[in-house]
Amino acid sequence: MSTIGFIGLGNMGFPMASRLAEAGHTLIVDDRDKGAVQRFQDQHPTSRTATDVKAWQDADIIITMLPNSDIVEAVLTGGVAAAASLNTLFIDMSSSEPIRSRDLGARLERQGMRYLDAPVSGGVRGAQNGQLAIMVGGRWHDLDQATELFDVLGKSVIHVGDAGSGHAAKALNNLVSAASVAATVEALRVGERFGIDPATLTQVLNASSGRSNTSENKVAQFMLSGTFGSGFPIGLMTKDIKIATALADSLGIDARFSHDCEAIWQSVLDAGHGAEDHTRMYEYLATPTKSFNDERQIHA
Ligand code: NAD
Repeated sequence: MSTIGFIGLGNMGFPMASRLAEAGHTLIVDDRDKGAVQRFQDQHPTSRTATDVKAWQDADIIITMLPNSDIVEAVLTGGVAAAASLNTLFIDMSSSEPIRSRDLGARLERQGMRYLDAPVSGGVRGAQNGQLAIMVGGRWHDLDQATELFDVLGKSVIHVGDAGSGHAAKALNNLVSAASVAATVEALRVGERFGIDPATLTQVLNASSGRSNTSENKVAQFMLSGTFGSGFPIGLMTKDIKIATALADSLGIDARFSHDCEAIWQSVLDAGHGAEDHTRMYEYLATPTKSFNDERQIHA
């Protein structure tokens, strides 16, 4: 069993850290939100809180599950990495920026530490059930040490390549997921205006080549039900799309479709909906542009 530092007890981090504590590991936890830290300690009394930066020196592994690269770097370089013992394995499971992650990994290695990027897919439910997909960038022998933890958190662990590759794979996966949400919502709305019940069109998609994670696991569950409660907000999805398009740009790839996808999500973010669940795109995309008269002609 390991002593695991865990920073970031949000929608994803709280259930992930809980599973690790329930598997018997010793947890040292921290979050800017001290209420979340208290809730974690109440539920897992054998865990410790990092009341002092020196607490990190006891951790064999330190996991970050934070909003973005800016915050991961600020937290790690703001005292955690300096306080940690030599050879500590840092694992950034946030969805961060791949080029910055590669640089962060190299910096930590120069300080005598080790680094993996290991972002996840599968949402809050996957975090609760230990069913996440984990994509890993970094060295094989560091992955060997982390396998025991990843087995508690996920159903699949894929070693993608060197440091940063896990984060690149995650952003590219979410680009595809975001494109699928936008395309599916547009199709449902067009179908609806033509008189096809969205539930019926979803049945058609799920029985046909248009099916996807969106059509199978989001439309009925979160969109048509009106619950919009997948736990993944528009702001985080847009962040991931932008990581993917920035990567394409930095590699000199003319990724036009991806930039169109980014513009669609960014426009909803700019309208002030960043904190809302991403399944609410069902309400914000493909709104009718024609007048009522035109509508009557459509149905004539
Ligand atoms: P969240 O906003 O619910 O949680 C982030 C946590 O980080 C919060 O508890 C916040 O208080 C804490 N935090 C922020 N700044 C901090 C700081 N400076 N020091 C300490 N703690 C700080 O986000 P989440 O949904 O848990 O997502 C975390 C990461 O996982 C993100 O990178 C996200 O893109 C990724 N992700 C989320 C999902 C999902 O379905 N929510 C799925 C896969 C990946």
